[in-house]
Amino acid sequence: MNNKPMIIIGAGASGLIAAVTSARAGQRVLLLEQNSKIGKKILVSGNGQCNIDNRDISTNRFHSQNPDFIKAVFKDYGFDTVKKFFTSIGLELTEGKDGKMFPMSLQAGSVVELLEYEAKRVGVEIVCDCTVTSIRKDADIFVLETSQGTKMCRKLLLASGSAAAPQLGGSSSGYAFAARLGHTLIPHHPSLVQLCSEDTWVKACAGVKVAGLAQLYANGEYIIEKKGDLLFTNYGISGLAILDLSREASTRLSHFDYCELSLDLIPNLSKEKLTSLLLGRIRKESEKPLALWLQGILNKKLVPVIIEQSKCRAKTEQELGRKDINKLVHSIKKLKLNISDTRGFRGAEVSTGGIDTSEVNPHTMESKLTSGLFFAGEILDVDGDRGGFNFHFAWVTGMRAGKLGRK
Ligand SMILES: Cc1cc2nc3c(=O)[nH]c(=O)nc-3n(C[C@H](O)[C@H](O)[C@H](O)COP(=O)(O)OP(=O)(O)OC[C@H]3O[C@@H](n4cnc5c(N)ncnc54)[C@H](O)[C@@H]3O)c2cc1C
Repeated sequence: MNNKPMIIIGAGASGLIAAVTSARAGQRVLLLEQNSKIGKKILVSGNGQCNIDNRDISTNRFHSQNPDFIKAVFKDYGFDTVKKFFTSIGLELTEGKDGKMFPMSLQAGSVVELLEYEAKRVGVEIVCDCTVTSIRKDADIFVLETSQGTKMCRKLLLASGSAAAPQLGGSSSGYAFAARLGHTLIPHHPSLVQLCSEDTWVKACAGVKVAGLAQLYANGEYIIEKKGDLLFTNYGISGLAILDLSREASTRLSHFDYCELSLDLIPNLSKEKLTSLLLGRIRKESEKPLALWLQGILNKKLVPVIIEQSKCRAKTEQELGRKDINKLVHSIKKLKLNISDTRGFRGAEVSTGGIDTSEVNPHTMESKLTSGLFFAGEILDVDGDRGGFNFHFAWVTGMRAGKLGRK
């Protein structure tokens, strides 16, 4: 029994880096993956370029019920530690906007292939198409039932991720295994996810993208705002600004709160500047229809919505008065969109919630409740902002579990 390998469930970001780190430290490692390929989420990340980390790691870019855990995990494990690891496997990084880091090849495939090569080089045994279906602990031995038979180990790392993106292997199974071994699950919700609306106008605007500002309200109370792309779709709204505030929307919606967005379609012009721009554009003798006149500043598909929400009565340019302009400006800068739901885990990049981190040692990632059991990555109650932060948490917790998880 002494030569039993450490078993890692999940060949995603955290499982792969843990496997390499652990095998380099002399531990035998068996890495089990339910998909037919390893690293599926890495492969699609950052639109195929893999936003692998962020140069500016700060704990306020992460969310958890236990922020002290994140602080402790990141001590001595900042961006430089991750960069050093990737240099050691032959992957160079390059910096994009806002501290976002990418592989120099700008190909997510390079990340997976170099991780796989290194894992095999240091002796990690990778078994794909192997779904773990149950885990029990007999004395100090973990007994795993899998689609490829029973496996046993003394050290088990749950790196099975979250329920986000089930089409890529996202699964709640790790939560169930951890619960069976005594752990508590903090409720989980989709995050970095698109939002749905039943407002009919939004469908008519599908495909329109504007650089705007979105403010989220729940039960009429202001919650948060984000600037960036707003993309109208046939189900509701997406775009970077929406993904960035989706965590708050998702949590509120799960409490049956009523959520609404107020959209500023021209955030770079203040209300006063937009008002004077519009007033300055009115030609007194012009019979130009109002809708056409508005196309001078707005996407055509958005024009009927603005007119409808503003309740502007003027039909032509020459009929426009100061009151109408005020109404139009209000509607352009505070366009209302009711939010009914998120696109769920299928549309989500990550999940909030997960295993309660107060039950896990932040230095070794070992369970405080079940000896020999370790955790890494998104299975834990930590999620990050968009920008490489989620991978940072996965790499760092994987390295900690791999390094200190050995005998
Ligand atoms: C579309 C998309 C784009 C993203 N882009 C970025 C980005 O650019 N930057 C960033 O920082 N983050 C990004 N993320 C988030 C990032 O991918 C995750 O936070 C990260 O992959 C989490 O790593 P993990 O190891 O915890 O889990 P995962 O990478 O999800 O790995 C878990 C693995 O466990 C396997 N597994 C689960 N249950 C079982 C079981 N019972 N038996 C066997 N195997 C099992 C799964 O198949 C999976 O391969 C993106 C996510 C998505 C969905």
